Parts: sequence; C-alpha cells; structure tokens
Amino acid sequence: MRKPIIAGNWKMHKTAGEGALLVRELAALTKTVTDVEMVVCPPFTALAAAAGAVAGTAIGLGAQNMHWEEKGAFTGEIAPGMLKDIGCTHVIIGHSERRQYFAETDKTVNQKTKAAFKAGLTPIVCVGETLAEREANATEKVVGIQVEGGLEGLTAEQAANLVIAYEPVWAIGTGRTASAGDANAVCAFIRRTVGAMFGQTVADSLRIQYGGSVKPDNIAELMAQPDIDGALVGGASLEADSFSKLVMFSGKA
Ligand code: PEP
Repeated sequence: MRKPIIAGNWKMHKTAGEGALLVRELAALTKTVTDVEMVVCPPFTALAAAAGAVAGTAIGLGAQNMHWEEKGAFTGEIAPGMLKDIGCTHVIIGHSERRQYFAETDKTVNQKTKAAFKAGLTPIVCVGETLAEREANATEKVVGIQVEGGLEGLTAEQAANLVIAYEPVWAIGTGRTASAGDANAVCAFIRRTVGAMFGQTVADSLRIQYGGSVKPDNIAELMAQPDIDGALVGGASLEADSFSKLVMFSGKA
C-alpha cells in the first residue's frame, strides 16, 4: 500500500510570520488526518519559522531547491545538510520553474537527488513535458529521459523511497489540469520506466504525484486513479482552507 502524499509548494510566497501562521491553521484543520502524508514547502527564509510550527504535528517540511555539494564557495546556495539541520524532511528537486528559469538539467537533478538521500532528505523529483512537446506527441520520450537521467545511479532502496511529481508544464499555475485519465497514463508510464530501471518491487513502492492546477474540486478524481499517489500543489496550498480540503481529497471538508 502506498501512502498518499500531498505537498504544498509555496514558491516565492509568504514571509516567515505568514508561513508560521499558515502552518498553524493547517495543523488545526488536519488534526485528524493520519492516512495521508502532508508536506509544506516554504521559501528558505520561512523554513525556520515553519519548522517551529510543524513541530508536534504530522506535517512534514520541505525546501524548494538545494545545492548538491555539502559546503563550499557557492554564493547564494543552500546545502542539503543545512536543510536537514533546520528540520526539513523533504526537498523538491527539478521543478519546471527551476529547469526553465535557472538552468536545472537532468544531470543537476541527478546530483541533487543523490545528495538529498545522503543528507537524509526525501527528494520530490519533478518531471513533465511542455505544451509543444505534448502536441508533438513527445510526452513519453521527454518524461522518460527526465526519469532515466534524474534517477541514474540510485540504489533500488533509494528509488523505492523517493517521490516523483509528474507536472505537465502547461498545467502549472494556468488553471488547465490534465484530465485524470491523461495524468494517470503518464504516471503509469513513469512507473513502468522505474520498473525497467530498478525492478517491479521498486516500481510498486514508488509514490508518484500529479501536479498542475490541483484544486479541491478536482483532487478526488485525480486521487481515484490507480497510479496517482498524491499531488504537488502550488496555488491551492497557499490557504489553509483549500490545502486542508486537498489533504482530505475533498471539495467539501
Ligand atoms: C507547482 O507549483 O508545482 C504547481 C503545480 O502549481 P499550481 O498548483 O499552482 O499549478
């Protein structure tokens, strides 16, 4: 049984104080949730305050990026051990905005994924095609290359414990969601790709999230798909009310 995982990517939103408040509201609304893993991913400057607020709750704490080296002359970068030290449990790696605006490649995704495991963090590795790639029927080719490149050289145990987020770039922040069937088809393809790399047992353990304009009114249909094990959520994670509804897979909560 794969435990569903819903993670909120706050992107460049929320001060430290706003972030701590959001976590406290979310914790109050999700007190009874035990069957879903919840993670919030604030910007770096709000991680310490959010770490204080998640303490004693079931909410995990993730960063949105990191460097792969342990330390060194990398001005402006954050090391994996620094995230662990501040209380992070997870880290998002290779988000499409980082690939698009900050030159993230499958090679750096691979380096960061290995470094995350070394530091004791669970990586959430993002993959997904652009609209032009989808329209050229290249989705599986593109996503396959991202998965194979991002996961190259991992141990089977690491591969079984990571989380992959399938996020079609055209669905992020646009209000356009992939249909539940289309999203599931790509997640199933990702699982087959991981199975070919690491074996069926690993593929069966791997959790795959869908991301791209997930909202309370479409989460239930997405989560009902056999190969979708959770969601990576941007916009709807910025309010406790909507994020708590997502965690309960419900438009009502
Ligand atoms: C994201 O940031 O990964 C994302 C999916 O954003 P949104 O939910 O706003 O589309």
